[in-house]
Amino acid sequence: MGGEEVILMGWVREIRDLGKLKFLILADREGHIQVTVKRDVVGEKMLEEVGELTRESVVAVKGTVSSNPKAPGGVEVVPSEIRLINVSQAPLPLEVSGKTKAELPTRLNSRFLDIRRPEVSAVVKISSAVKMSFLRFFDEHGFINVNPPCIVAAATEGGTELFPLVYFDKEAFLSQSPQLYKQILMASGLDKVVIVTPVFRAEPHDTYRHLNEAVQMDIEVAFIRNEEDVLEYYDGVLERILKDLKERCSKELEFFRTPELKLPVKRITYERALELLSRDGIEIPWGEDFSPEAERKLCERYNPVLVKDWPTEVRSFYSMPDPERPEICRAFDLLLGGIEISSGAQRIHELPQLIDALKRKGLDPDKFEFYLNAFRYGMPPHGGWSIGLERFVMALLGLKNIREAALFPRDRRRLVP
Ligand code: ATP
Ligand code: MG
Repeated sequence: MGGEEVILMGWVREIRDLGKLKFLILADREGHIQVTVKRDVVGEKMLEEVGELTRESVVAVKGTVSSNPKAPGGVEVVPSEIRLINVSQAPLPLEVSGKTKAELPTRLNSRFLDIRRPEVSAVVKISSAVKMSFLRFFDEHGFINVNPPCIVAAATEGGTELFPLVYFDKEAFLSQSPQLYKQILMASGLDKVVIVTPVFRAEPHDTYRHLNEAVQMDIEVAFIRNEEDVLEYYDGVLERILKDLKERCSKELEFFRTPELKLPVKRITYERALELLSRDGIEIPWGEDFSPEAERKLCERYNPVLVKDWPTEVRSFYSMPDPERPEICRAFDLLLGGIEISSGAQRIHELPQLIDALKRKGLDPDKFEFYLNAFRYGMPPHGGWSIGLERFVMALLGLKNIREAALFPRDRRRLVP
């Protein structure tokens, strides 16, 4: 390699000044390259200008590529011309070269600089690949991609976790889930829909696994026999995402210790999960949701693991109870990397049963008229599930905090940037 003339544009990540010889490390979205500025080649004036460059300024470099075993990556560019395109102020609010470690809040305050770091942009690129792969898979399986409204009049599952907003002269909310709308669409003849949408949850807690705005990846399928008909898509789509990531993001994945995932997904019942947890010293009373510790423990046995046949009372009103044993329902959770990444169920499609289920949860059926109407004129049996994108990326890459997997995370304290 060598002798090739190139024009490169990027950020001045580092400058090393040896007097007559200066090294710039130029960074762009693909990586870094050493630019070796020699006085003999560029002359005194340009050498001086290079000496005055600030880190993270944007420059264009015209020069020739040559191999140099001492340069990082084994190649360098010897410039004939360097043009300053945009100067960066100093000092930087965040060290981009990664030599000093910044705390997450500091990083998030200057997220654009943070994302210049390859290990951070890797998360964004992997998240993009996951989303694209998800949509490709379901497109190829005959699903129709839709976007239900994010401005809604009623809560999905009660009124406690909604952000209210002023909608002209009416009260409205930001949607916490596309759930009700994707079910309505099952009465529209579209049969199989796939949705990637932001959701907004006014949950006041401040945890490593909750955001107040997240991206959900949903499917809903009509004419199912039971929940098995939607469960089987987990294996297909997970396999596809892993394969696509290997092909498209191998460089990005190197930054992470991704856990080995065993497919097809291991399935256990809720009651079996309680037994296994009890053996590990975690007692969960029948009828309660899992603690984060319990989710971690289950994934130490099986990763991922699908827990089905949940107690009806802990699941959303629309989950279909087992006709033989109404205290359990056809709902399930998918746990991966020690955390719930997805929930789903076969839904109730009979109107009287649905109204009953609403009332049982203390919800007012009158407020759900727009939804219940879809069950009055021919609603096929249906079911579906939802994967949280940030949760999935976090679990897949072994990130400690979900904020790392969100572009500009929204939490209890953070609304900017
Ligand atoms: P959890 O019990 O962990 O709070 P949930 O059961 O309330 O979650 P669901 O309503 O089942 O969440 O939402 C579907 C998926 O969306 C979840 O499995 C998860 O991956 C993701 N998700 C839910 N809430 C949040 C949140 N606050 N922040 C980020 N992702 C979320
Ligand atoms: Mg859930």
